[in-house]
Amino acid sequence: MVRATIEAEGIDDARVLAAMRRVPRHRFVPENVRGAAYADRPLPIGWGQTISQPYIVAAMTAAAGPKPTDRCLEIGTGSGYQAAVLAELCARVYSIEYLEPLAAFARENLTALGYSVELRHGDGYRGWPEAAPFDVILVTAAPERVPQPLLDQLAVGGRLVVPVGSPGEVQTLELWIRKASGAGAESFERRTLARVRFVPFLGDGARGE
Ligand code: SAH
Repeated sequence: MVRATIEAEGIDDARVLAAMRRVPRHRFVPENVRGAAYADRPLPIGWGQTISQPYIVAAMTAAAGPKPTDRCLEIGTGSGYQAAVLAELCARVYSIEYLEPLAAFARENLTALGYSVELRHGDGYRGWPEAAPFDVILVTAAPERVPQPLLDQLAVGGRLVVPVGSPGEVQTLELWIRKASGAGAESFERRTLARVRFVPFLGDGARGE
């Protein structure tokens, strides 16, 4: 899968490719779709949610550039797969899931494989202030605007990767790099990476007002 699809589509970050080879994706999807676990496509994980296509996981991870000493936060644990990829690459991983049954599913999957990830069930809009700041924040559901608390919880030099846009439409994958400690827009550099399609961001903060 890694060579046929991910490298072929231009991801050349050796650490990310090695991490993708190590994490057994079939252990993060329900039995009935295990046969398709190594195809480059999203798969249903229940409760209306999907595990992203491996290429997107690789591209988001490479864009965030996690380093071995980094502290990472993921919003949208889902199956736990992206959290496992991050756990292969950095020092500490925190992940928040809105839907209780998926939080339980992810905990089971990660524990069974021995991954140590701090999991929380709740609304990721507010981030995880007690564990901030983070060097990497990955958001795997699409809010209409980037949640301000997540920008606030990014370390100077940190990278936030987030799909931004309306539910049901094509969204823009954005990379935000924090250049300075101030909270204003001038402290951040924003780059647009790709057109993507993610499930909607749930909860009160979904519209990011
Ligand atoms: N990263 C996951 C795939 C996630 S699908 C994986 O590797 O399997 C997006 C997930 O985001 C869903 O599980 C959805 O329930 C969750 N989600 C949506 N809105 C959220 C919010 N406000 N806070 C936390 N999780 C949220």
